[in-house]
Amino acid sequence: MTSFREPTIQPTEEAAVEDRALRPQRMADMVGQRAVFERLMIAVDATRKRGEVLGHILLDGPPGLGKTTFATCIPKELGVSLQIASGAALTAPKDLLPYLSNASEGSVLFIDEIHRLPIAVEEFLYPAMEDFRIDITLGDGVAARTINMPLRPFTLVGATTRAGLISAPLRDRFQMREHLDFYSFDELAEIVRRSAAKLSMPMDDASADEIARRSRGTPRLANNRLRWIRDFSTSRANGELTIEIAKTALEMQGIDELGLDGFDRKYLETIQRVFGGGPVGVEAIAHTMSTATDTLEDDVEPFLLRCELVVRTPRGRRLTPRGEEHLGAMPQTAPQRRLF
Ligand code: ADP
Repeated sequence: MTSFREPTIQPTEEAAVEDRALRPQRMADMVGQRAVFERLMIAVDATRKRGEVLGHILLDGPPGLGKTTFATCIPKELGVSLQIASGAALTAPKDLLPYLSNASEGSVLFIDEIHRLPIAVEEFLYPAMEDFRIDITLGDGVAARTINMPLRPFTLVGATTRAGLISAPLRDRFQMREHLDFYSFDELAEIVRRSAAKLSMPMDDASADEIARRSRGTPRLANNRLRWIRDFSTSRANGELTIEIAKTALEMQGIDELGLDGFDRKYLETIQRVFGGGPVGVEAIAHTMSTATDTLEDDVEPFLLRCELVVRTPRGRRLTPRGEEHLGAMPQTAPQRRLF
């Protein structure tokens, strides 16, 4: 899925190709998420052995943790085809129709950002998921009639950054619901080493550890940081890579010791400076930062909450002593603003 947090690193065609190159192609190539991995492997294995169709799966968790990767690996394990759609683009039932009618027996339909489906599309999906049929209404008023169209049995894999926004009837139609959590330091260091090998980059353990430490628990960010360091090393260091070069490159991007970037720090600074440390509602923070509440809730807050730099209270977000301390330890993002 697309991330809002690093608008300056919009994937170019070349980066998109590299992203594909770095994405694990088989489940066995995936690092971490062991409990989720084991459960999905069992479901895939049983489906294969019985020659049945895999039950629908809902994956949730912050961006960049591997929801799309699981969704693309599962059909490869099953030897079936994959269609990819995005909840935001499915604005009416007719938008879903081609995907459902094209779905071959046992194939996977992946809907990213499934929490963004409008209710009419969601309701259209219910009989498709449950009974592999859709109800199409022809005509208007008293002349209207509904016809049932059977579908070939398929597997829906839904991904969301907001499990809380999924309605109960939709959630209940998924046989498996899996939550992806942030990766450990060791898992990220392993991902960095594997990605460096795929990009033919020399990589010592100290540099891999440094990148892992500054990747906010997120494989996508680990890969982004790695690619930036590669560019930096090519342009400024004749392709050489040492821990000092890695650190200089990351600092040049404003990535601090905890892996936070300027936007994360701006969020913390806004709570501290404008709202006296909180508690403050997320909408007020978003307005002040001229950004969308969704961006803060999906992309910024989960890791900061995880690190206990902020807490959510019934009255809003509050900076913790650890958050204060982190800001105190870091150079200010916008020192000139401190004058006011
Ligand atoms: P999401 O769909 O949750 O936003 P993605 O599946 O697109 O995240 O993951 C982003 C990138 O991170 C992938 O392209 C891949 O390179 C890397 N990645 C994600 N999960 C893993 C994993 N378990 N092992 C190795 N790399 C991973």
